[in-house]
Amino acid sequence: MNYHLDGNLKRSASHFPDRNAYIYGDKGVTYKELNQLVNRFAAGLSARGIEKGDGVALLLGNSPEFVIAYYGILRLGAFAVPINPLFTQGEINYVLDNSQAKAIIAHVSAEQKLLEIKEQLENLKFVIYTDAEDQEGTWEHLMEAGDHTYESPFVDQEDLAVILYTSGTTGKPKGAMLSHRNLASNADSVSKWLEMHEEDRVMAVLPMFHVFSMTVCLNAPIACGATVLIVPRFSSLDVVSIIREKKATVFVGVPTMYNFIFQLSEATMEDFLSIRLCISGGASIPIELLQKFESKYNVFILEGYGLSETAPVVAFNPLRGTRKPGSVGLNIPDTKSKVIDENGKEVPRGEVGELVVQGPNVMKGYLDMPEATSAVLIDEWFYTGDLARMDEEGYIYIVDRKKDMIIVGGYNVYPREVEEVLYEHPAIVEAAVIGVPDEEYGESIKAYVVVKDKQLTMDDMIRFCQDKLVKYKLPRYVEFLKELPKNSTGKILRRELRQLTEVK
Ligand code: AMP
Repeated sequence: MNYHLDGNLKRSASHFPDRNAYIYGDKGVTYKELNQLVNRFAAGLSARGIEKGDGVALLLGNSPEFVIAYYGILRLGAFAVPINPLFTQGEINYVLDNSQAKAIIAHVSAEQKLLEIKEQLENLKFVIYTDAEDQEGTWEHLMEAGDHTYESPFVDQEDLAVILYTSGTTGKPKGAMLSHRNLASNADSVSKWLEMHEEDRVMAVLPMFHVFSMTVCLNAPIACGATVLIVPRFSSLDVVSIIREKKATVFVGVPTMYNFIFQLSEATMEDFLSIRLCISGGASIPIELLQKFESKYNVFILEGYGLSETAPVVAFNPLRGTRKPGSVGLNIPDTKSKVIDENGKEVPRGEVGELVVQGPNVMKGYLDMPEATSAVLIDEWFYTGDLARMDEEGYIYIVDRKKDMIIVGGYNVYPREVEEVLYEHPAIVEAAVIGVPDEEYGESIKAYVVVKDKQLTMDDMIRFCQDKLVKYKLPRYVEFLKELPKNSTGKILRRELRQLTEVK
């Protein structure tokens, strides 16, 4: 099988020309139209001197332009460098410089940020702005320049398709290099596993510049001719009304989104009638939340697990057969996992160790970082940095990030198990646990919580945990916050919580 992302789009354009590829607001664009738009964009880029093998950065929120530009870049045989538009000037500069991108497609709101950067980057040839007034260098101009017959070059499945910069809690962000095969094989496995088909309407509210959305909300639906419902930003109320009005069949979210939607007093089961499947990933979804959400809205949530480096999905609970709440499920087709100890030896089933992964979805490496690459790609296995256990039936349980583990007086404590207990408290909206230095025990546990009931005290919270956790796992400190710091995909940033502690 020759895996190719743009090949998937062309196939859907030929099998389902009149089906909507995406809907944005009230406007639908069919596969036939999308295929033409992508061709124009690729031709326009080519007319401006971008060639196969060049990098093009995308500084766009969820929008039709993201979809068109992303597939256009791939058609041209160039590679895309998606960047979070909220990044600071310094962060954007670093990514552009590291990836040596030759062009940027950006929303006009980024113009100020990019003006200075442009001067500093020798490799950068031009910037194209979307939603801009009519002037040189706008999206419309590029599309006009592409209004001619265009023959796209041959693109091999091993060619570079995307470089994704992973947040990385330490050191500089690393550019994970993903090939067409990495991404397209994953889209293929995901769409089969979730039984995605052309009648599906998949909600894309997670940012497309993140790999979770890129594969599950974009590449997978496009590969099977489904419709992508493009939502520019997350607001729980809007999401619910879009689901109802546009009859979404698949909702894809991170746990914090589920939490916000659950809290809505206005939303009911009726709003979710069209949904056949909810997907959660990116971080562990507390079992309590999963169950509460499912019973309030009468839906079914499947949790999966993945990383940028694995394009991203490694495991998913099965759609049919046994789903195990708390587990991220089984390896999806073509991926393999094992749990190993410090010496690289597989541990017995049920024991905790590092999860390592193999499959066509595993990245080629980090751009220009041979040391960082050889630290994670060892003997054809990718070392995830996540601690996990696997049960007898092969279900994987993510315990925590290896580096988030807390050691209290020699005992290992995984933040997640303390957080799960905190989430059982009816007043808790959000909770995150970190280790703080402790003279006596090395580290002790600190919980940051967001609560509905302002009267609650630290002692109340600790007492609540007392009969549920052994003494060394009990939070010693509890701090109440208005909200927890999160990244653009809603992942709680423990790193920032640690900084909060340091400042005090
Ligand atoms: P990223 O590369 O930004 O997608 O982050 C990948 C990391 O997210 C993984 O290494 C895990 O630590 C975490 N992660 C993703 N999905 C899950 C999940 N379902 N449960 C627990 N952690 C997850």
